[in-house]
Amino acid sequence: MSKKEEKTKAQQLKEKLLMKNESGAKTLGEEEIKKAEDFCKDYIGFIGKAKIEREAVEYAIKHAKKSGFTEYDYTKNYKPGDRVYVNNRDKAVMLAVIGKNGTKNGVRLGIAHIDSPRLDLKPNPLYESSDLALFKTHYYGGIKKYQWPTVPLALHGVVVKKNGKVINVTVGEKDDEPCFVVSDLLPHLANEQMSKVMTKAFTGEDLNVLIGSLPFRDNDESESVKLNIMNIIFKKYGITEEDFLSADLTMVPAAKPREVGFDRSLIGAYGHDDKVCAYPALRAILDIDTPERTTITVLTDREEIGSDGNTGMKSTYLADFIADLAKQDGEELRHVMRKTDCLSADVNAAFDPSYASAFEANNSSFINRGAVITKYTGSGGKYSTSDASAEFMAKIRNILDSKNVLWQTGELGKVDGGGGGTIAKFVANLNADVVDLGVPVLSMHAPFEIVSKIDVYETYRALYEFYSFD
Ligand code: MN
Ligand code: MN
Repeated sequence: MSKKEEKTKAQQLKEKLLMKNESGAKTLGEEEIKKAEDFCKDYIGFIGKAKIEREAVEYAIKHAKKSGFTEYDYTKNYKPGDRVYVNNRDKAVMLAVIGKNGTKNGVRLGIAHIDSPRLDLKPNPLYESSDLALFKTHYYGGIKKYQWPTVPLALHGVVVKKNGKVINVTVGEKDDEPCFVVSDLLPHLANEQMSKVMTKAFTGEDLNVLIGSLPFRDNDESESVKLNIMNIIFKKYGITEEDFLSADLTMVPAAKPREVGFDRSLIGAYGHDDKVCAYPALRAILDIDTPERTTITVLTDREEIGSDGNTGMKSTYLADFIADLAKQDGEELRHVMRKTDCLSADVNAAFDPSYASAFEANNSSFINRGAVITKYTGSGGKYSTSDASAEFMAKIRNILDSKNVLWQTGELGKVDGGGGGTIAKFVANLNADVVDLGVPVLSMHAPFEIVSKIDVYETYRALYEFYSFD
């Protein structure tokens, strides 16, 4: 046997037995890359508008209505192909397309979260100190506190008056509007600060947002800067200081989403985690035809703080909805749930060459290699994770491969390097099969996170094909 033939045999075996490791982007045709480009234009429009969960819900319902979705009424009977939505307190939303067999063979779920790390205002936020007016904040979700000072911030949320009137607030997004900022110490005077460990150098109580400096004139009262700011707020929104007690107000980065890189292949934005999966999950449910099983996209809240609360995935709101749908079909929730499949659409950490030691390269997700499937998250010895079964992994592999979706697997960093979780375990606890699938992200939880256009589009394709697969 010649040497050349031996090599051919090895090549043949390699092809048959070993995983292909070439970069995903190289395997895509021009047309696919163009589709990703178009899809991401829409995504950039969404992520620029929907910075907090309430805005994402508003966007989703507006577009769902245009696609023929109507508000769900549990007293009504629905037929295959009907499209309905449930608005949970303006902070979470479920969108369902009734399947040809309804809930009889279980339902298909795609669940993403629409809350992102940020600086919430405290219930009594406004104060004056050394002739400056500031807001006290309480950070929401996992942040590296040093990343938030000196970043232009915008105020988003609602204030609700005692009579129930809801006042929407957005300041700092438009070019002609002012923004806000957390100050930092100049390096000249930061010897003490810079010698501290990072967890101590910036504390939660240091994250105070500068909101003004001019005093109320024609007045010799104390706290006249605070009074002047409150007067401006009152004139614009009709609210008094006491009304902050009934408000959901938060400071988010004011930065607009931008294309990143000479090749414009990446998108930088605040809140990719997890709107970068929420948008594909929304589009997938809007785009599918009547599926075999009833299919539901859930855009949920509270994931970043552990999914507690009535709009988070530990709440019964999803199970209650499925129970209502099951009842119409003469089915019981428990029988529907054990046949239910779910993609928990959430992001994973993309391998970052600048921080390579935090990752294990054989089991990391990479930018431009497509949607990442994360079999388990958690920490330590696989604590706090549902860990998808081999059987369910096989099912998802089959769906994605049969539709030529570009995908990869990823673990969240090195063993014992830290850890994290998603909503997957809460869905698994309802006795459904579930695995995480989403977009790899660089600088996750930073004020400006990075994703690739190809990965966003392939995540959409994964969700769409999962929903459409019989
Ligand atoms: Mn997430
Ligand atoms: Mn997160």
